[in-house]
Amino acid sequence: MKKLFSILKCFCTIFLALTFSISTSLNANAQSLLRDTEIEATLRAYTDPILRAANLNSSSVDLYLVNDKSLNAFVTRGQNIFIHTGLILEAETPNQLKGVLAHESGHIAGGHLVRRDQSNKSAYGAMLIAAGIGIAAILAGESGAGATILAGSQQFGTIDVLAHSRINEASADQAAAKYLEITGQSGKGLVEFFEKFRYQEVLSNARRYPYFRGHPLSSDRIDKLREVTSESQYANVKDTPEEIKAMAMAKAKLIGFLDAPQTVFSKYPPTDTSKPARYARAVAHYRAADLRNAIKSIDTLIADEPENPYFYELKGQIYHESGKGKLALAPLREAVRLMPQAPLLEIALAQSLIEVDTPQAIASATKHLKSALQKENTNSYAWYLLSQAYDRDDEPSLARYAIAEQAFAMGDYNRARSFAMRSQTGLNNPSAQWRRASDIIVVAEIHLAKKRNRRR
Ligand SMILES: [Zn+2]
Repeated sequence: MKKLFSILKCFCTIFLALTFSISTSLNANAQSLLRDTEIEATLRAYTDPILRAANLNSSSVDLYLVNDKSLNAFVTRGQNIFIHTGLILEAETPNQLKGVLAHESGHIAGGHLVRRDQSNKSAYGAMLIAAGIGIAAILAGESGAGATILAGSQQFGTIDVLAHSRINEASADQAAAKYLEITGQSGKGLVEFFEKFRYQEVLSNARRYPYFRGHPLSSDRIDKLREVTSESQYANVKDTPEEIKAMAMAKAKLIGFLDAPQTVFSKYPPTDTSKPARYARAVAHYRAADLRNAIKSIDTLIADEPENPYFYELKGQIYHESGKGKLALAPLREAVRLMPQAPLLEIALAQSLIEVDTPQAIASATKHLKSALQKENTNSYAWYLLSQAYDRDDEPSLARYAIAEQAFAMGDYNRARSFAMRSQTGLNNPSAQWRRASDIIVVAEIHLAKKRNRRR
């Protein structure tokens, strides 16, 4: 029975690399945020040079990957770029994707959102709060709640997009061309991308991809962009083989996790022995509860690239999700050894260590979670796991403190305040955790008071 349960579990907790970030009730229409070290690294490698060219601080611009097959990308106040999985899957080359990212960066640098916020502040405020909570909840692993809230905030994306003006679109296009020029890259991809979807213009607005509802593709607009990008000395610069490979692997992973296994096997038939094909099939086998073939596939990739942390990460995930936590440890340790700076890998390892539940494993889990939280302080799932580790370690006050942090990161201020107060009765005063619990109580009370005032 335990085995059956784990197989079922592996069907419904599909997540890229870690189970906590994708909705547990994944269905075709569910919109949720995905976290995945590999895809995030790929997107950052494409985006960061563009942001720097736009004079933006790349570390203050957050990228979010939205699990949604429709083609869309949008920016929100607070310098966030949201990218739908559909956009990555529809882009034919890294250069096309970079073109869209450069265009969105143009909206951020141009302050297009700030101006609109002033014109429609109240509607915006409510929507943004919804999006914020959605994000926090999903990152916390309470994916059901998060997905619902974020689905509500989808409207916010639409309002945002509808508010795009033709002038802003033209200026973001020109900015994109400039950033690509500064970074020595071709702007042709953006033109190609627009050309590819030009047919969308003849569709009614409701049938269009969300992206083109807000970004109308007049021939005039495309012509202007083509003019400036074709004059560039970098017009014919091609994507590097590394960039092309990273995108192919990201697509394979997305298809492996998001499509039905049968669809994956027809998109990547066994005759295709390329790395992306073997990657996608490894995921599909695992999702079809075929553990033997999943491990076989991923092992061929590890044999080809023994230094690739993501292959070990997937192998660890396959074992963990199949209820073989002990076997997950070695590959996850290897992933962390190869990429010690990646918090999600440490969190995955900690999750398996907690399941193994020996005093040594708990000590190691605590160490990795603290290290992950230094890099991602608001990762509420890491706080949740840390509370479990403290609990196993018979440290109830520290466990309560970690739950307070988890609730705080998710914006659940009532719970955060209550657990912070309860933790203080058993914590040493002064200690770092005691002081932090005090801060949580103060800030949570401010938020709760604001909320009461809004109701009045
Ligand atoms: Zn735009």
